[in-house]
Amino acid sequence: MSFWDEKTETMKPGALEKLQLKRLKQVVSYCYSNVSFYREKFRQAGIKPSDIKRLDDVEKIPYTTKRDLRDNYPFGMVAVPCSRINRIHASSGTTGKPTVVVYTRKDLDVWADLMARELYMSGVRKKDTVQLIYNYAFFTGGFGFQQGAEKIGAAVIPAGVGNTRKQIQVMKDFNVSMFSSTPSYALHLAEVMDELNIKSGDLKLRVGVFGAEPWSEPMRKRIEKSFGIDAFDNYGLSEMCGPGVCMECGEKDGMHVWGDHFLPEIVDPESGERADGGELVLTTLTKEALPLLRYRTGDLTSFLDGVCSCGRTHRRIGRIKGRVDDMLIIRGVNVFPSHVEEIIMSFPEIGDSYQVIVSREGQMDSLGVRIEVTPEIFTGSEVQLRDLRERLGRELCSGLDVSVDVELVEPFTLERSAGKAQRVVDLRKE
Ligand code: ADP
Ligand code: ZN
Repeated sequence: MSFWDEKTETMKPGALEKLQLKRLKQVVSYCYSNVSFYREKFRQAGIKPSDIKRLDDVEKIPYTTKRDLRDNYPFGMVAVPCSRINRIHASSGTTGKPTVVVYTRKDLDVWADLMARELYMSGVRKKDTVQLIYNYAFFTGGFGFQQGAEKIGAAVIPAGVGNTRKQIQVMKDFNVSMFSSTPSYALHLAEVMDELNIKSGDLKLRVGVFGAEPWSEPMRKRIEKSFGIDAFDNYGLSEMCGPGVCMECGEKDGMHVWGDHFLPEIVDPESGERADGGELVLTTLTKEALPLLRYRTGDLTSFLDGVCSCGRTHRRIGRIKGRVDDMLIIRGVNVFPSHVEEIIMSFPEIGDSYQVIVSREGQMDSLGVRIEVTPEIFTGSEVQLRDLRERLGRELCSGLDVSVDVELVEPFTLERSAGKAQRVVDLRKE
């Protein structure tokens, strides 16, 4: 077992909480002194930084939302003068106007260290060659991974996105041992590898780190099998730093949230009350340029109890189920696209892409899934296809509690994205 920063990663829970409290008090005073938005929020809530005496006192602080960042676009919530800003990134803007995030030199150093911690945990070492398949324009992902991998001393290929055949050629020619992309793009890479008749054994890949969008256990298994790698889930968001907030260890039983830099809470998305499962809320404990108190991530997860056998003591959260806004309400039943994926991807006859389609007939919403099948199934018999369609319909209906119209389509017909996949087609909005 090995660690990038053993002392911090395996800190006794009591000592970690002590450090968190010290840093929480510091960041609260810092926000109050340097960000007028927070001074005003504190005034409205009738609190002062000195009211934070215990970790649970964080609950006295009002939430910060994406809306607050948008209202203060671009630099209204920044806590340092322009001269101290060293880098400016922006989020992907999946749910609207992108949010702008800025970093001081120290923020970049902390971020690089957290990324090194995560990559080291996945097994990346100095000897590795790392291919980063992310859009480098504005987004945080590629830069985060690059800084961490360079800090470890690995060789980095900033491959960017697109030109899938070339990506695979590079993997092969440069002896790439680790790559990182969105999980949906990883599956597309696997498809193109098949087309090129390149087998996982022709490559030197060992490890893959995937994130930026929800994915499922069956999808992990597919990715691991296609490339012959160990695949890890990694979660982050631009508002905190980008990737670097939490990641799975070798146990692959939840992601460790780095408690020395982020204070995690989980709340009921509707009432805002603390809950075991619900929306993740994060407070930055050490950020200089854009400190955020109780930021509502909009992402749904739950805390995992118990001690992790890897030896790390930082709290774990389960897979991100999706965003609060991803939830579809179909005839009164809540449905998450990630749940649809979990059900269909466990069918070996299913290809690597699907779409969830929501439509309305009269007053009734209905749910459909358009799923690519494998080439073998597509060229197989009518009876086989009909049987598969029926089995999928039954599994989806019993898993989701709502009837689902299944449409099976030819392989490679649905659009592929090099970044975050667009899984839901909402015809109600058209
Ligand atoms: P946005 O997509 O909101 O414009 P970012 O580019 O910063 O902003 O992406 C962060 C978001 O991506 C997270 O809030 C979350 O919704 C999603 N995300 C990131 N990593 C994961 C992951 N491992 N699993 C599920 N969702 C993820
Ligand atoms: Zn662990």
